[in-house]
Amino acid sequence: MAAKFEQLGLIGCGLMGGSFALAAKRAGLVKRVVGYSKSPSTTERARQMGIIDVEAPSALLAVSGADLVLLAVPVSATEATFKAIRHLITSNMLIMDVGSTKRDVVDAATRVLGNNLGSFVPAHPIAGKEVSGVEHADPELYVGKQVILTPGPKTQVNHLKRAVELWEGMGCHVQQMAPEAHDAAFAAVSHMPHLLAFALMHAIINQPMGKDFLALAGPGFRDFTRIAASDPKMWRDVLLANKLEVVEQAKMFQRSLLNMLQMVEDSQGEKLEGMIEQASNSRSHWRMGQKGK
Ligand code: NAP
Repeated sequence: MAAKFEQLGLIGCGLMGGSFALAAKRAGLVKRVVGYSKSPSTTERARQMGIIDVEAPSALLAVSGADLVLLAVPVSATEATFKAIRHLITSNMLIMDVGSTKRDVVDAATRVLGNNLGSFVPAHPIAGKEVSGVEHADPELYVGKQVILTPGPKTQVNHLKRAVELWEGMGCHVQQMAPEAHDAAFAAVSHMPHLLAFALMHAIINQPMGKDFLALAGPGFRDFTRIAASDPKMWRDVLLANKLEVVEQAKMFQRSLLNMLQMVEDSQGEKLEGMIEQASNSRSHWRMGQKGK
């Protein structure tokens, strides 16, 4: 039986936060939502769309009376948000986030939350869209998706259990791991692909014939660069927050790229085909959310 919450205090009524509120209400997991966003116009829009029931004038007041709090703000705003709400946090309140990086978020919580650190269960839903903003909030966003929780030694067991039940109640598959393991994995399979897509678009549009080349591009280009249309501020934050792991992955990528380029330059067809074959086989057998053998 999934946990039921009386009041969700939602801080950040955008794509991720708005989708969470809609999904949790639809699943009967949350009765009432009090929301706050940086711009009053976003908060008002969230109320008009039925995402939140009450507009709060500050993050602190969004937390007042809540038994569940969700931070769905850019990761760079996490620490300031914890500071803004810490005076109303109680030990029986479950607090979560949805940030794409976890070490920085856990460090911010450790610095700010003090004795209430045990109430915080860090979360990263592996769901999203390349469009952000409250107008794209979608109650289906999390259905069937993975959610990674990165609890620490101080996380209260009952809060962790309620967090797992809550995400599962919205149709998610929950996994737990250490924040460092999370950040290393997502540098490889999320942050690097975004960086590469941004860099490729950048390289094409900044050459004299770039626009003409784009006009000729087909489905391969469309699929490869879909994520290059993602929110610039969010991705600036994610890449900076996870810079060590991103640089590590970039070095590994660089090695593969240079290797393959050398093979092209030297017309080493057999070796080149071998590397492509390895990549092609791995990609053909890859299924989302399935562990490799
Ligand atoms: P979003 O649609 O832009 O929503 C972010 C919301 O936070 C906006 O409503 C914004 O308000 C509000 N906000 C910004 N700074 C704030 C502050 N200091 N105090 C209170 N509210 C603030 O972005 P999103 O895609 O939902 O991303 C939210 C979080 O989810 C990020 O941490 C991101 O890493 C994570 N995430 C995103 C995805 C994805 O695909 N988008 C996937 C997984 C995780 P305004 O409207 O007033 O600017």
